[in-house]
Amino acid sequence: MTTYFNGVVVRSSGERPAVAELRLPEIGPGQVRVRVRAAGVCHSDLSMINGTLRAPYPLVLGHEAAGEVIEAGDHVTRAAVGDHVVLNWQPPCRSCWFCARGEPWLCSTSSGIAALENGITLDGGPVHVALGLGAFATQVVAPENAVIRVPAELGFDRAALLGCGVLTGVGAVRNTAQVAAGESVVVIGLGGVGLSVVAAARAAGAADVIAVDVTEAKKGLAEAAGATDFVVSSDTLSKEIRVRTSGRGADHAIECVGRAATIRAAWRSTRRGGKVTVVGMGSNEDMVQLSALDIFSSARTLRSSVYGGADFDAEIPRLAADVLSGTLAVDHLISDRIGLADVPAAFDRMSRGEGARSVVLV
Ligand SMILES: [Zn+2]
Ligand SMILES: [Zn+2]
Repeated sequence: MTTYFNGVVVRSSGERPAVAELRLPEIGPGQVRVRVRAAGVCHSDLSMINGTLRAPYPLVLGHEAAGEVIEAGDHVTRAAVGDHVVLNWQPPCRSCWFCARGEPWLCSTSSGIAALENGITLDGGPVHVALGLGAFATQVVAPENAVIRVPAELGFDRAALLGCGVLTGVGAVRNTAQVAAGESVVVIGLGGVGLSVVAAARAAGAADVIAVDVTEAKKGLAEAAGATDFVVSSDTLSKEIRVRTSGRGADHAIECVGRAATIRAAWRSTRRGGKVTVVGMGSNEDMVQLSALDIFSSARTLRSSVYGGADFDAEIPRLAADVLSGTLAVDHLISDRIGLADVPAAFDRMSRGEGARSVVLV
C-alpha cells in the first residue's frame, strides 16, 4: 500500500518552500505513523531554508509537532493507535556513554540536527525530512522513541509547542541556567523560545526579567509572558541593563538569537560572576570574540543549552502537567493559527521579527 500525503518542501537553499505531494511506503518494525495535527514554525526551520544550517534538499520542513498515532509497527511498545503524542526531533539511543550518564540530550548516536531520508519520496525521488521528522506534513513516520504520549485534554496546538520551543526555553531556565528566586535575568530575542524563557524565569521566582528585542512591537508579548521590563536592543544595551541592575549587570543573560553580536551583548549584560546561557542556534562561520583578560577577570560562565538540557521522556509529561495545572502558560505564545499553505508567509513574518509562534493546524 502506498500512502500519499501533503508536506511543505523546500527544494534548494534560499528557495521559497511550497506544499507538495509526498509518498510513503509501509512502516517497518519499531516505527509509528503519526497523523500530524499541529506543528509550530520554529526558527531552525527558517535556518534550514536560508542556509544558516546546512541541510540536504529537497527537504520536508517542520519538527515542533504533535499528533495522533494512526499506525504502529511490530514490536512498538511506547505508543498505540489513538494515542496523542509529542514528537522528539532528537530521540536518544539510551545506550551510549552520554545516555548512560543521564545526559540523553547529548546522545552521541542520535540523529541530532541531521535531516534524514526515511523512505518518503517526492516526484519519485528521495526527499529528506527536517530533524528526522518533516512535520509540516499531514503524516510523519518516526521510530517509536521519537514519540511521547500526552493527555488528550492538553490539545494538539499546545502539545506541539512543548516539543521544541517550550522544552528548549523552560529547560534553559530550569536545567541549564538554574535560575533561582530573587535573581535578575536578561532575555535576548523574543521568539517562541525567548518568550518561553521569560515565562519560565518568572515562574522560577526571578525578581527582574528584562526582555530584549530589536523591535518595540514585542513589548506586549513580553509583558504577557511575565517580563518586568522591556528594552529595545541597541549598541548601548549593556549600559541599559546596568542601569536596571544596581550598576552591576544581571545574574543571568539568556541568549535566544544565535548570533555572535547578541552572545557578546549577553556576556556584557551580566555581572561579574554572572551566567550566560546560549540557547540560539547560530552559524558555523559567526565567530564570538572575547578577550582572554575579560574571560579571566569577569569570572563569568558561558554555556549552551541543547534542547533544554532535558530528558525529553521525563520533561514532556512534566511540562504537560504544568500547562494543565496552570503553572506554565503557553497560550500567549501562539500568535497565528495557519494552514500548511500559509507556512511560507509565516517564515516571512518570522524574518521581519513579527509575532510569536505560528502554529500550523494540519
Ligand atoms: Zn525548533
Ligand atoms: Zn545515546
